[in-house]
Amino acid sequence: MGRSIYFFGAGQADGDAQQKDLLGGKGAGLAEMTRLGIPVPPGFTVTTEVCNAYYASGKALPAGVEDEIKAAIGRLESLRGAGFGSPEAPLLVSVRSGARASMPGMMDTILNLGLNDEIARGLARRTGSERFALDAYRRFILAYADIVLGVPRDRFEEALGRARRQAAAKLGVDATRLNSAELERKVPDSQLDPESLAALIQRQKDIVLGATGRPFPDDPYAQLWGAIGAVFDSWKNHRAQVYRKMHDIPEAWGTACTVQAMVFGNLGDDSGTGVAFTRDPSTGERRFYGEWLPNAQGEDVVAGVRTPHPLSRPGEGGGADDESSLEARMPAAYAALVEVQGKLEQHFRDVQDLEFTIQQNELFLLQCRTAKRTGRAAVRIAVEMAKEGLISQREAILRVDPGSIDQLLHPSIDPSAPKSLLARGLPASPGAATGQVVFSADEAERRAGQGRAVILVRSETSPEDIHGMKAARGILTARGGMTSHAAVVARGMGKSCVAGCSAISVSQGRMAVTIYDDHGRATGSITVKDGDLITLDGGTGTVYLGAVPTIPAALSGEFEELMAWADAVRRLRVRSNADTPHDARTARNFGAEGIGLCRTEHMFFDEERIQAVREMILADGELGRRRALAKLLPFQRSDFVGVFREMAGLPVTIRLLDPPLHEFLPQDEAQLQQLSRATGVSAEDLQRKSEELAEYNPMLGHRGCRLAITSPEIYEMQARAILEAACEVAAAGIEVEPEIMIPLSMTRRELALTRALVEGVAEKVFAEKGRRVDVRFGTMIELPRAALRAGELAEEAEFFSFGTNDLTQTSLGISRDDAGRFLGAYVEAGIFAKDPFQSLDVPGVGELVEIGRDRGRAARPGLKLGVCGEHGGDPSSIAFFERAGLDYVSCSPFRVPIARLAAAQAALAAEAARGPRATD
Ligand code: ADP
Ligand code: MG
Ligand code: MG
Repeated sequence: MGRSIYFFGAGQADGDAQQKDLLGGKGAGLAEMTRLGIPVPPGFTVTTEVCNAYYASGKALPAGVEDEIKAAIGRLESLRGAGFGSPEAPLLVSVRSGARASMPGMMDTILNLGLNDEIARGLARRTGSERFALDAYRRFILAYADIVLGVPRDRFEEALGRARRQAAAKLGVDATRLNSAELERKVPDSQLDPESLAALIQRQKDIVLGATGRPFPDDPYAQLWGAIGAVFDSWKNHRAQVYRKMHDIPEAWGTACTVQAMVFGNLGDDSGTGVAFTRDPSTGERRFYGEWLPNAQGEDVVAGVRTPHPLSRPGEGGGADDESSLEARMPAAYAALVEVQGKLEQHFRDVQDLEFTIQQNELFLLQCRTAKRTGRAAVRIAVEMAKEGLISQREAILRVDPGSIDQLLHPSIDPSAPKSLLARGLPASPGAATGQVVFSADEAERRAGQGRAVILVRSETSPEDIHGMKAARGILTARGGMTSHAAVVARGMGKSCVAGCSAISVSQGRMAVTIYDDHGRATGSITVKDGDLITLDGGTGTVYLGAVPTIPAALSGEFEELMAWADAVRRLRVRSNADTPHDARTARNFGAEGIGLCRTEHMFFDEERIQAVREMILADGELGRRRALAKLLPFQRSDFVGVFREMAGLPVTIRLLDPPLHEFLPQDEAQLQQLSRATGVSAEDLQRKSEELAEYNPMLGHRGCRLAITSPEIYEMQARAILEAACEVAAAGIEVEPEIMIPLSMTRRELALTRALVEGVAEKVFAEKGRRVDVRFGTMIELPRAALRAGELAEEAEFFSFGTNDLTQTSLGISRDDAGRFLGAYVEAGIFAKDPFQSLDVPGVGELVEIGRDRGRAARPGLKLGVCGEHGGDPSSIAFFERAGLDYVSCSPFRVPIARLAAAQAALAAEAARGPRATD
């Protein structure tokens, strides 16, 4: 173990900003600010190594550390001209927690440590305010009892109430009928007089004695050892553990502990405390931004009992808050703060989040850290800082979390609006949406047709619900995960979706919602009926009751600029999955460089077509099938014409029919009767046929190119529709680049047969139309055997598209639709770091991708390689696809900008891994 203690004060510091691992973010920031000559109360940081040693030795400080701490306190005393434990010139300290990564509010901090009765009297004499000294003392006892001695705060509530009533009597306020909240408003902490405070302190000590069997510790060093131990202990408290799990922070990091001389923002009207941001963290605007409270201690700002004031005067025009701003009330301290914030931002080259306190007009900084920000702000800040020359364009690209730009592409909840939380589910597809609840797709369509905004609520959705999903503003499901049908389709549509919301249950036109408290205990339930208003926040997975105001999406100029910079550095091409001309246009507007997956069956669900599809499936022989297919041909052709036009000059990969046929069959008696009338086949016969088609395991059943092996006429019709459409569009002078893709192949022979079939159709169509178009033939790689035999497949295929959804299902042998029941436990137990359907299983499925790549390219140099599937829009998976040297990824239209940015970051990371660049 290296040194245990890092001192900072009077312009010098043992540590610096690089030492977050050892000093925590807080300790490192305080050291760095001190070095920069910024006014920081002196102090020292006990390292995270000491914390880990403390745990290793059964919660004891390692030998020698106590003496080092005493020596550091000695240095503090001489810097401050005060004594720890001295009633004449008391030195009070704060004992603060702080880990490598910021964990706001998760661990404990104790202020005003070093007080007992005698020292409190000394502090009163020294500051000239008995009220201040006693208030500091009673706050210290409260915090220390709670954090160190384990006597919870609420045990002191009654004593505080008595003190307030005592003070009320003196103020002439009648407090007899007031409840505790009203009492606090009438007699705030600042109105507690010395006499009531003294009585309160005595009662607090009695409570501690009663609860612990020991008197409250009077010796400042005893207090200090207790507080340091408690700060270390807080690393393993329940809320910190939960937070670490959520944010992937390893337990082994430990927390540092900073002991720092107190400064007082509550010494009168020339004192105060606040927080500041060097730029606006929600919009990114370059303006100094923050809040402060006069005559208050740091914890008061967080507590939210008093309403803080703005730091700066409002710009042009002024406003009601003008006079309460720090700028107006303490111009000199404000000017000092403005100078410090500028210096810090220049130094750290990023937006800083600051804590400050002003003691009798003198400014002190107590914390600085990189500010958290919204996606909107992140983009604006990165671009503006690059233009200001503070960072390079490359750094700007790396500064923005690709996931966060989702917020820019969708409307979002107005953060300042009042809202009433109903339930939480999975953040399946971002965006905010308000509407009336409806429980069926047909009803959603009907009411949307009347101009109403609706939210479709279902237990789970199926392909049958597409029209309702299209009509709805948002989708809420009780079951299903991040890759459930609802989630995938909603993301594709760019629509808000909260999935897997287990607090709701849907039945018979009602939604019952179980209400939980903060500890996850069910406390009651609410029924939401058809037509009631709810609001979804698909970015956080939150459901609110009623309408919550939203802010519209806005693609700013900065966003376009950042994207242009990203496009200039990325190597991976980004295509989109799009099934309709409308989706294709959206994708192109977001910068898609082609379509990587056009699913032909999506087009089958339209009302006019589904009938023909069903006829085709249930027909008794080839002839019947061909008759039904002939009805579908014009629909398919016109869809492809639309898609090719939208994608003029860009490649369009069209996948031939993939899903098992039973997905298209009638779902209920009414549909069966309708089909019977249309085909003249009895309902009983249709029912029997449909039962014959049922499969035990459709995912591994009669689907993909297996359909074409048994019924080639299906693919024949589809190939004809594609090629006729391509000829038609080419005839209009528009460049087309069709790519026909075969799903689920595993052998060369399957590809050879389907290829011969497609080529046969192509020759016929070209002869009929009197023109040829270039068409590429390729396959999806979504079975392990296909990846292994990629060498053979590449002899038939000109491109591969890794269908990573199915490749994950088939490699892991885990059905995506059934994984919800246990995958959570797998992630919890650390078996998978993340859900492998969201973030590619690089060691396993990734190796299959690499094998497919190597064997495929060995057989056919220049073989084009892409990815379609949810992973194509996932930043960490994209990083792998970049390393693997694939040519493109394809993702849903609204993920295209995310993929472009992620691909640029992956390219920069790959470049950095190859070694330093010659120039930059
Ligand atoms: P957190 O990590 O929860 O923000 P902090 O350690 O930053 O906890 O402290 C809580 C509050 O107490 C902050 O507002 C901080 O500025 C204030 N504070 C901490 N140390 C001191 C000190 N030495 N003097 C004055 N205020 C302090
Ligand atoms: Mg803080
Ligand atoms: Mg598939």
